[in-house]
Amino acid sequence: MGTLRFLFTDHLSKEISSLDGIDRDNDAVLMVEVDDETDYVPHHPKKIAFLFSAMRHFAEELRDEGVEVDYVTLDDPRNEGSFRAELERAVKRHLPERIIVTEPGEYRVEAAIDDWRAAIDIPIEVRADTRFFCSRDAFGEWAKGKKQLRMEMFYRWMRQRHSFLMEGDAPEGGRWNFDAENRKPPKKGLDPSGPMRFEPDDITEAVLTMVERRFGNRFGSTRPFWFAVNRTQARRALDHFLQHSLASFGDYQDAMMEDEDYLFHSVLSQYMNCGLLSPEEVCREIEAAFHEGEAPLNAVEGYVRQILGWREYVRGIYWLKMPGYARENRLEATRPLPAFYWTGETDMNCLAKVIDQTRREAHSHHIQRLMVTGNFALLIGVLPEEICEWYLAVYADAFEWVELPNTLGMAMHADGGYLGSKPYAASGNYINKMSDFCGNCRFNVKDKLGPDACPFNYLYWNFLIENRQRLDGNPRLNRPFATLDRMDGDRIAAIRKESNKFLASLEPWKKAA
Ligand code: SF4
Repeated sequence: MGTLRFLFTDHLSKEISSLDGIDRDNDAVLMVEVDDETDYVPHHPKKIAFLFSAMRHFAEELRDEGVEVDYVTLDDPRNEGSFRAELERAVKRHLPERIIVTEPGEYRVEAAIDDWRAAIDIPIEVRADTRFFCSRDAFGEWAKGKKQLRMEMFYRWMRQRHSFLMEGDAPEGGRWNFDAENRKPPKKGLDPSGPMRFEPDDITEAVLTMVERRFGNRFGSTRPFWFAVNRTQARRALDHFLQHSLASFGDYQDAMMEDEDYLFHSVLSQYMNCGLLSPEEVCREIEAAFHEGEAPLNAVEGYVRQILGWREYVRGIYWLKMPGYARENRLEATRPLPAFYWTGETDMNCLAKVIDQTRREAHSHHIQRLMVTGNFALLIGVLPEEICEWYLAVYADAFEWVELPNTLGMAMHADGGYLGSKPYAASGNYINKMSDFCGNCRFNVKDKLGPDACPFNYLYWNFLIENRQRLDGNPRLNRPFATLDRMDGDRIAAIRKESNKFLASLEPWKKAA
């Protein structure tokens, strides 16, 4: 035969570079479900079901177009459980002249390709992933010579380069950033329609049954299962967001509500990250909604910044800094991840609610991730590798290129401020302002110390006390450090005592050997 084109789990797009120039008469596509990929972290069962169902649907679409697809299911008794072993078996079946892959989304897979080359005496061509706006090389050029990178500068460069929301050389509306208008707290009477939901079809039901049998004892529920699993459905989910949620997305993008999992968030990231939607089509349609008067600029700019700016920026940093980036721990954090991240059993209502949603949905929005679970992990000094593993496992949109910089860099500030200019540390006051969690909590968000005080309150100051040396000189912390300097010794001693008592009460997660 001609060429074997090996598609990874997140390569579910007909535009993927590994399919470029396919010869339907002589080439074949290889797709495999393997234990190595389901088990290297304990992925949420709904995430596994989503990705395998989307893979199986994509394989069917390719077959409908006359492409030969060699698909190995997880339950196939001959399945040897790893990309490499399955590639070796496929090579014996097809005897290809060469193999083509698109660059993977995780460093560990890219590093393994050299091993595959050694094991399989056939040329393996690795093509760039052209679904991103900024290639790895272009990001490297942009970053060259910069001691610290700043997303805002990268984002402006990307807006100009790709002509998004521009009026000539100037940004639409005269400003690059409308973030200040995008911080409205939640209020009663909001009536979001939420993301579009789909009934599982026979393919998805078969995957759900298999996943429940094999991974049913893991953190996370499979049902209700409502994700889009093919491109047609993902397009409908995008249209639904444009029609029903985009206009209010900006105003309430940082808000959190107990009984509204998503408010006006699009919940499209898992579709973009596996290939069902392209970031370019999403951004172009969001921009068109503004030009057609269907959504205000603060919402549209805020959304485009997340995709064209932040998403591309974190990917650029990941590939620029790996593999060393994964080992960064500049705040020298050593605490094991609390067990309640895997159970949701905590009296802190904000954490209980976000973890419960994560268990049900394999999804939560960026402020839930950054300012509740991430903020808490930062304040108590969780080992970066343990919190990174949690985020990578539990979210349906999590691949390491996007998860690691967001967790290690943004949430944990473990890269010393390379990615972000300040640690996102906050007391209970922030959570109270941006959510309705505190009203139903056993702790009192107004109390700073004492048995009923919100733990975020004293842990926030404890974090600043413990990291004073490491964070001194960060201009964005001048104000809290000045407040800390005015505190008397008794108050500091009380904060330390209360924090230590609370920290000692946390049951650590015992990672399976
Ligand atoms: Fe969270 Fe504190 Fe509010 Fe409770 S009082 S929900 S722990 S921020």
